[in-house]
Amino acid sequence: MQKKIIITGGCGYIGSHTVVECLENYTKKNGYESDYEIISMDNHLNSSSSVIKNIENLTGRKVKNYDVDLCNYDKTKEIFEKEADINSDSQIIGIIHFAALKSVPDSVADPIFYYQNNLNSLLNILKLSKEYKVENFIFSSSCSVYGNTTELPVSENTAFGYAESPYAYTKQVGERMIIDFAKTSKSQKFVLLRYFNPVGAHISAQIGEDPKNPPTSLVPIITLTAAGKRDKMTVHGSDYATRDGSCIRDYIHVSDIAEAHRLAIDYLVENQKNKDKNINQVEIFNLGTGNGVTVLEAIKAFEKVSNKKLNYELGGRREGDVVEIYADNEKAKTVLGWIPKYGIEEMMLSAWKWQQKIL
Ligand code: UDP
Repeated sequence: MQKKIIITGGCGYIGSHTVVECLENYTKKNGYESDYEIISMDNHLNSSSSVIKNIENLTGRKVKNYDVDLCNYDKTKEIFEKEADINSDSQIIGIIHFAALKSVPDSVADPIFYYQNNLNSLLNILKLSKEYKVENFIFSSSCSVYGNTTELPVSENTAFGYAESPYAYTKQVGERMIIDFAKTSKSQKFVLLRYFNPVGAHISAQIGEDPKNPPTSLVPIITLTAAGKRDKMTVHGSDYATRDGSCIRDYIHVSDIAEAHRLAIDYLVENQKNKDKNINQVEIFNLGTGNGVTVLEAIKAFEKVSNKKLNYELGGRREGDVVEIYADNEKAKTVLGWIPKYGIEEMMLSAWKWQQKIL
């Protein structure tokens, strides 16, 4: 029986690192029943088509990508129909759903597009997961669901705050949609992963963050500025009530995030084999290091590892920004056995190596 995992957004930033993580680990020689086949669905709305080649070079394995807009139900269904073909003795055992837009400022500028894209695609993929009896579903959520909370570090039990941006709201609604849907589809299990701030690049520098749209996230803006592709960068807000006035985030290496997805699939598959273990139908995990880092500290860490002075200025606050957030990550550590390996300097160094590669 050929077991398959569908990774939507497999050419995107976190998706591509997770494809690599799965290809490198889900093999018979690591004790899995078979080499899971990894199938990507990505229409390159915000990813480059060269990513697949880079993944293949890096892993030495073939990757299938379907260029499909998940908002198109019929076209997406055709792919499920083909891949889950019962006559070909194959089964889709899991879906990892990354495909979504993720920029706070872009979502403020075009909320309709964000709601349309992030929510329609999720609705379709959920419907199809049930139709094709996919038992395990992992959803990319975000710490932005907590809003501006005073409860720090945030645990999975911290209540949702006001969603500061349309992007954040798509994640709150997405989680709620899954929780409601799960009640109507008891044979499926769901893990919602709330990412803090994924940064950095694969240690090989063969894949990294390379969006088509101009990046709005801090780390690519730092590396683009250092590479001379931008004249200067702005620190958005230096008068917040934090230790140096700039916002605090919990930056987490993208490869650590990718590993958590593999562990989450393992967790669901193992627990489904062992039916006595009655795990929750929907389980939520924070994925962060637990360390809060200010924008200015992140810049300093970059300057240290790159040996470059960054041209930056202190500017006004950015609309939709949360002031301070970092994770309580105990649950992911204990339940999934996840141990984030990289610190802020390694994150910055890997991002810088990647940037130099794609100059
Ligand atoms: N940031 C900044 N300058 C930039 C881009 C981002 O000062 O050019 C700040 C941003 O205001 C926030 C932090 O860096 O406080 C992280 O922003 P990012 O967009 O990377 O992540 P998010 O806000 O979604 O957590």
